Amino acid sequence: MPAIGVIGCGTAGAAAAILLARAGHEVTVLERVPKPGPVGAGIMIQPTGQAVLARLGLLDVITARGSRIDRLWFRTHALRTLVDLQYAAVDPTWFGIGLHRGVLFEALYAAACAEPRVRVQTGIDARAIRRDGPHTFIRDTTGAEHGPFELVIVADGAVSELRAATGTTTRDTAYPWGALWFVAHDPDRVFTRELYQVGAGSRRLYGALPTGLAPRGETPVVSLFWSLPARELDAWRAAGLDAWKAEVRAIDPRIEHVLDQIRSPDQVTFARYRDVRMSRWHDGNVVFIGDAAHATSPQLGQGANLALVDALVLADSLATESITAGLDRYARTRRRHLGYYQRMTRWLTPLFQSDSRVMGLLRDWTFPIANAIPPLRNLMIRTMAGVSTGFTSKQLALPDKPTPT
Ligand SMILES: Cc1cc2nc3c(=O)[nH]c(=O)nc-3n(C[C@H](O)[C@H](O)[C@H](O)COP(=O)(O)OP(=O)(O)OC[C@H]3O[C@@H](n4cnc5c(N)ncnc54)[C@H](O)[C@@H]3O)c2cc1C
Repeated sequence: MPAIGVIGCGTAGAAAAILLARAGHEVTVLERVPKPGPVGAGIMIQPTGQAVLARLGLLDVITARGSRIDRLWFRTHALRTLVDLQYAAVDPTWFGIGLHRGVLFEALYAAACAEPRVRVQTGIDARAIRRDGPHTFIRDTTGAEHGPFELVIVADGAVSELRAATGTTTRDTAYPWGALWFVAHDPDRVFTRELYQVGAGSRRLYGALPTGLAPRGETPVVSLFWSLPARELDAWRAAGLDAWKAEVRAIDPRIEHVLDQIRSPDQVTFARYRDVRMSRWHDGNVVFIGDAAHATSPQLGQGANLALVDALVLADSLATESITAGLDRYARTRRRHLGYYQRMTRWLTPLFQSDSRVMGLLRDWTFPIANAIPPLRNLMIRTMAGVSTGFTSKQLALPDKPTPT
């Protein structure tokens, strides 16, 4: 079996390493962070991601530490419902899982480290890939080379250091807007069962996502997010918290106990997003997966799910084919699904995060109409669930049905 090198031990890299090792490959994972830990805030695990986690044998642990999400409820500042998307309206077995990214990371990382054919090397910052005949080597920042590998999987995330060298990156831009994140204790589970969002035009977006249990803890947590242009971050920090808290409180009075836990702007994380498009994800025996290949803004809540599906499809594509044929099959299989989510995210993001008054008005006018027309609402639910491949009812084939809890 060919030896495989994986760059990055995030969602995509760890999942691919586990699946390929189980198929008999010797896998070396190189991870930049010396002591990886459970960082990040709330993410959504959709039915697609759940199906992959089921294949990995990790769904039970994720379900136990996550919060079941039955719907996305999105309202205006004046509390008019824009969309109310309930998974069960399309499939009674579907639901989302609100999860701390750190919990997903720890589950995947522990499983990768426990896999006999996986070797995880941390503190290795990959910088270049060198080909020598059929062999490929990964060079790190110290100049040391790792390999030889018959296949290199690049899964180094949205800010990939290796992407620029490919010549196949057709778009790689930072979105002008990002989001403030805060993960708060929610011991009484005030926030439960729904991803709740409120928009005021396209300049204000508030959200609360039940996030399951904190990593390594038993306290229920909720993620508060608040949209902000990157250029206003310094001004937000300098302004102090009082005016901002008053604004958040006015949108959702239930948030008081969360705001009480924020005593300094330094406790609040600002996340920025990239829009990445590659004309080809593979070249020879090197393939890009996860955010490294197709980072998007998180409007549709798909980042971790797309990365997990990438890993599964890649492992399945390589199971019966040579590396060259397997990578071609991978690219063919993923193109439609990934293309749909990239296009939809690119179109929808300005409706939620932009300076344009028109975009906010357009959203507030069109979304309730779509929400009231069952075929359109079902398309939105399938899109949220991660299974859409376009404006038809053709769905991504899921490997297993997740077990509802
Ligand atoms: C620290 C962090 C926090 C995040 N927090 C959130 C969040 O709160 N909410 C959310 O929705 N999404 C978050 N994300 C993004 C989310 O995890 C990804 O969108 C999704 O899981 C896709 O996974 P990925 O494996 O493609 O990328 P990532 O999960 O970003 O993993 C990439 C991995 O590659 C490693 N790496 C990067 N460069 C190199 C290099 N040169 N050499 C070796 N290793 C390298 C990184 O350290 C990381 O472990 C976060 C990502 C990171 C890295």
